[in-house]
Amino acid sequence: MDLKKIKVLMEEAVSNSEYLKNEGSLATYIPELAKVRADNYGVCLVKTNGDIVTSGDSEIKFSIQSISKVIDLIMALEDVGEEKVFSKVGTEPTEYKFNSIRPIKEKAANPLINAGAITTCSLIKGSNVDEKFNRVIDKLKKLSDSDDVVFLEEIYHSEMKTTDINRSIAYYLKSIGIIEDDAEGILDLYIRNCAIGLNIKELAHIAAVLANGGKSLDGKDVLIDKEVVKTTLALMAACGMYEESGKYLIDVGFPSKSGVGGAIIGIIPGKCGICTYSPRLDSSGNSVRGKKILSEMSKSLDLNIFI
Ligand code: GLN
Repeated sequence: MDLKKIKVLMEEAVSNSEYLKNEGSLATYIPELAKVRADNYGVCLVKTNGDIVTSGDSEIKFSIQSISKVIDLIMALEDVGEEKVFSKVGTEPTEYKFNSIRPIKEKAANPLINAGAITTCSLIKGSNVDEKFNRVIDKLKKLSDSDDVVFLEEIYHSEMKTTDINRSIAYYLKSIGIIEDDAEGILDLYIRNCAIGLNIKELAHIAAVLANGGKSLDGKDVLIDKEVVKTTLALMAACGMYEESGKYLIDVGFPSKSGVGGAIIGIIPGKCGICTYSPRLDSSGNSVRGKKILSEMSKSLDLNIFI
């Protein structure tokens, strides 16, 4: 499909979602996130050949929040391998909220809820938190093809001060032997990764690299091992939208991951990556307008991978 046609259908999806612009609420449990402009929105589609189409605000940097769980998983898989990762974290969806302590039996249900991502953070290699975090930033620079990967310090501090639930999860995982390192350091890395700031173009570029089987969009470099891409996309399809993952997959039909910052990334293998941004969330923590835009684009651009 040519880019002009994509742009027309993207704008149509945006205007068809406009009635939802006051629906949902900001993630005020992270006090700093209560300050973002609720009516901001953006959509970006990047094809696997690098072509790009955008609508709305494509420059604003927002915290990627739980989209970092995708990177945590990729790095854990690359650093210690699938066998070790899945000895520490499960592969199944859960009906509980993303920050619930309940889906932890002998391990967290999956790597895309908080308990699972805190676990994968503990598997990222590096001799201290700074070194691990710098490796995450470097990976994101390569995947987004951008040097402008930022750290939103106010959001980090705001969450660090208020995150009793994630602190509890980290200490609990440590107490049952899932986390082997210092729980406070792992929590710190997890919250830092959530506070990384990117814009929709950078996130859509990362999604396009995943859609391209892990290869850079010029086809020259392997940025993520193909097996790791396969596992990551399968888990995104099964668990990426929390307790709404099944319903969302029926409607939208491609692997996705949301964050409470308001972004959603979607991957259409072999075709493109998409990122939407709109910070008002439903009760599962997924962007209300983002879901609608992706649903509309899935249908009008024929992106559902199942039909
Ligand atoms: N930093 C957030 C938290 O741990 C991420 C949650 C999310 O984006 N769903 O609560």
